[in-house]
Amino acid sequence: MVDTIHNENRLLRRKLENLLRQARTNEKKQGLFDSFGFEIIGSNSPAQLCDYLLVQMQVRFHLQDVILCIVDYNKDTDRLFFGHDDDARHIFKNNLYILDPDKRSDVLASLPFAPALGEDVLQDYSWLLNDRQCSDCKSAALLPLLRADKITGALFLISNDVNRYKQSHGTEFLQRLSVMTAVAIENCLNQQRIKEIGYQDALTQAYNRRYFDLRIKDEIERSLRLDHDLTCMFVDVDYFKNVNDTYGHHIGDLVLMRIVAMIKEQVRACDIVARYGGEEFVIALPNTNISVASEIANRLRKVISSEKHSFYGKELSITVSIGMTSLQALNNPEINTAEGLSVLLLEYADNALYKAKHNGRNRVVVYSTDLDN
Ligand code: GH3
Ligand code: MG
Ligand code: MG
Repeated sequence: MVDTIHNENRLLRRKLENLLRQARTNEKKQGLFDSFGFEIIGSNSPAQLCDYLLVQMQVRFHLQDVILCIVDYNKDTDRLFFGHDDDARHIFKNNLYILDPDKRSDVLASLPFAPALGEDVLQDYSWLLNDRQCSDCKSAALLPLLRADKITGALFLISNDVNRYKQSHGTEFLQRLSVMTAVAIENCLNQQRIKEIGYQDALTQAYNRRYFDLRIKDEIERSLRLDHDLTCMFVDVDYFKNVNDTYGHHIGDLVLMRIVAMIKEQVRACDIVARYGGEEFVIALPNTNISVASEIANRLRKVISSEKHSFYGKELSITVSIGMTSLQALNNPEINTAEGLSVLLLEYADNALYKAKHNGRNRVVVYSTDLDN
């Protein structure tokens, strides 16, 4: 009798110890997930958030791979995340899938509203694997990212352990992680949107001068580091005062908006288009020499002058004058700081613009020292 009680006690104690051990493991796990969640929510830039989600998460949670999918409802995720930073875009491109909900509505519809775990998940969501060699991918968890009952993305956690993610496993920790991830991404994108508004010209949606003056220095530094050329051009609308005087200020505004749209159509996404003053725009073309940039400028000039601009039934022709120069054409060894070079670049491009105006407008002038005479 005493022996039986003793045995039962021992069994109960062992059960209790096991439960306590399990509770301690869970507590530790929850602590790990929570502290990571707070860190990602505290990210202060897209680069830091990408680093947390796509690099550190893999290391800290001993994963084979992590892929993040973001549903790009506003068609701005790539721009807000990477802007002109092609290096960052390249680093994360294999682990970040930006999903266009209009072009890939089928794929969006296939994302689950609750976590999906197991071996089959790898097959079911193989479109996320993006051609990677996946012989070591044995099980996976696909965690939907939800905001206000809307799928904003998914986090794909891949393990080389077939037992790591099983359909029968609880998903409480993973769900907490996905909630924090969804909030962190939304915060990050919104912060970037707010920053962008501060850098944008309200009328034309081009960048404003403040942004250009900051960016041009970064671009010059990058060009010097990579030994790339960088072209800068000023575009000024010809006789714009007449447009206002003849057709009214409102139509003048529409012309400015249209000009920016046309400029954006002619340049690359990595080029920086800014409104520098009233009817004057500045464009920086990284990694572009003066002869390629001249072709772009001439094409732009022709496209603008050959369009019959029509606003409220009123037709008008618009021309622009363009002045330009490039970093490698500056040829001034005494000035070698980004600050000094940016002043020189703008000054020379402005001189060339002045010459284009002086020579009759509706033309492109490339800066050369002869212009100084
Ligand atoms: P030029 O060929 O020498 O460049 O002649 P211009 O008439 O274009 O140049 P000017 O500097 O004499 O006039 C620029 C005009 O642009 C005057 C100003 O009222 C107008 N302007 C500046 N900002 C805006 C704007 O936001 N909207 C409108 N509608 N007009 C603007
Ligand atoms: Mg003008
Ligand atoms: Mg002007």
